[in-house]
Amino acid sequence: MLVIISGPSGSGKGTVVKELDPEKGYALSISVTTRKPRKGEIDGRDYFFTTEEEFHKMRAENALLEHAVYVSNFYGTPRVYVEEQISKGKVVVLEIEVYGALQVQEKFPEAVLIFLLPPTITELERRLSGRGTEDPVTIEARLKKAMEEVPLIDSYNYLVINDDISAAVEKIDAIVQAERLRPKRCHEEISNFSSPQRSEEA
Ligand code: ADP
Ligand code: 5GP
Repeated sequence: MLVIISGPSGSGKGTVVKELDPEKGYALSISVTTRKPRKGEIDGRDYFFTTEEEFHKMRAENALLEHAVYVSNFYGTPRVYVEEQISKGKVVVLEIEVYGALQVQEKFPEAVLIFLLPPTITELERRLSGRGTEDPVTIEARLKKAMEEVPLIDSYNYLVINDDISAAVEKIDAIVQAERLRPKRCHEEISNFSSPQRSEEA
């Protein structure tokens, strides 16, 4: 299963996604970006930090499942990791912005799209400034971007309000559990009932 989590910068996507338990099958995709690392971010853990030249090379080699520009920086999802983890039956989580999410939805119509919002816009501003990682001009650009992203929520399958972190994680777990029960994901269980064995026994 492919799960996409989007939402305005500062809504808490990174925080919530880090709380998803790998024991429950979650595998987090690590994106490539041309953005400079923030204090505390580690290459290969938070992102693969790269140059524009290398980013465009990856794009040209079809190594990215999707890509987008976000406030003057490029971001993309490495294709191979996602494909490998899906084939292992993992719940692959992409924490990406809306235009990338729509590209993935085109390629994988069964992807589950979750939009994360904080309870209020004031709280969004508070979280974004409180994080202390961007200057005021960048914060303003990210808030403007948020206003552009929110109307695209109609293309998403679920809305989760991130008021309390554990409650938001529980909601995502519940969505994934319910999605697992869609008949289109239960081929094995259903195939037990399409075998001719029973009528032969009778
Ligand atoms: P995003 O990845 O969406 O840009 P972050 O995960 O970096 O957002 O969160 C932005 C800020 O808000 C961080 O300082 C984080 O600690 C804080 N935060 C995240 N979720 C909550 C929450 N439910 N309640 C209060 N603060 C939160
Ligand atoms: P940040 O700079 O705050 O880490 O990320 C900025 C935005 O880029 C966020 O909305 C985040 O979800 C998004 N993003 C991160 N990685 C990717 C990616 O691989 N592809 C796309 N399309 N967006 C990404």
